[in-house]
Amino acid sequence: IITVVGSYVVDLMSRTPHMPKPGETVLGGPFRMGPGGKGGNQAVAAARQGSRVCMVTKVGNDPFGQAAVKHFQAEHISTDYVFVDDAEATGAALIAVDDNGENMIVVALGACGKLSAEDVAQAEQMIKRSTVVLVQLETSMEAVRKTLELAGTYGVPVILNPAPYQPIPEELLKGVTYITPNETEAFLLTGIEITDEESAYRAASVLYRRGVKHVVITLGKKGCYYYEGGPSGILYPGFHVDAVDTTGAGDAFNGGLAHALAEGRSIRQALRYANAVAALSVTKIGTAPAMPSREEVERFLQN
Ligand code: ADP
Repeated sequence: IITVVGSYVVDLMSRTPHMPKPGETVLGGPFRMGPGGKGGNQAVAAARQGSRVCMVTKVGNDPFGQAAVKHFQAEHISTDYVFVDDAEATGAALIAVDDNGENMIVVALGACGKLSAEDVAQAEQMIKRSTVVLVQLETSMEAVRKTLELAGTYGVPVILNPAPYQPIPEELLKGVTYITPNETEAFLLTGIEITDEESAYRAASVLYRRGVKHVVITLGKKGCYYYEGGPSGILYPGFHVDAVDTTGAGDAFNGGLAHALAEGRSIRQALRYANAVAALSVTKIGTAPAMPSREEVERFLQN
């Protein structure tokens, strides 16, 4: 079992001929709506690889919240710990994409921002039975803290995807088995700009010295850099694909990594697998709907 503790938001996306200025209304369209949130997307990526996944999140007592539960069920993801908050609305991401493909996004976390330590504690037995726990920074820090604490208690490896960036209390890093920042997040966490393998090594060493056992910095189409101590790390090159929409690449990577590790693959194989899941996800439009199936990934890796 993979337990994912993280966000669910509904993506409300519209094209726009140009980005509105403050105070301006632009006639845009078409409008598209779908499931989103880093936690939910990563859960879907892992579940489509065949892992048993349990989602721990919070939604509102509203139609978007009900749609969230249906969505997870359709992806064969356990919703036993999808909590419902009566006071907050289901989270939403308001996304505008202009004709150049640039985007502007406002995320209202709503209910999933209210995921509490007590909520996570209710999933204690599920975490205990998990092979891997996956958590991001898109809920509350207290939920992240409780997740790391429970995983630590039961010796379950935890992947922390530090996205979107928030400062992480130093003592929390010591409980992280794998950290998976992208280049921006790695810079914000360490102050080191990632421009090449050497700077990736320096940033990874900083995180390693702070207590993270395995550091994985994702490098967009260049792949990922892996470090677990010693004089150097290893670059796992990305796969060449025709990218049409790179949103959700990091989510695909994390879900794929969690799955491969849960299956007992070596870190080498797991990082290659994660690169493949992420590469396939950028060949399709959207986030959760763009996650590839296990069959697609295996076919891709054979070629
Ligand atoms: P994020 O989406 O969080 O910004 P990255 O851009 O680093 O994260 O992408 C995460 C992973 O997605 C990369 O490590 C790589 O495996 C894959 N990836 C991203 N962009 C591409 C691309 N254009 N071609 C192939 N793989 C890609």
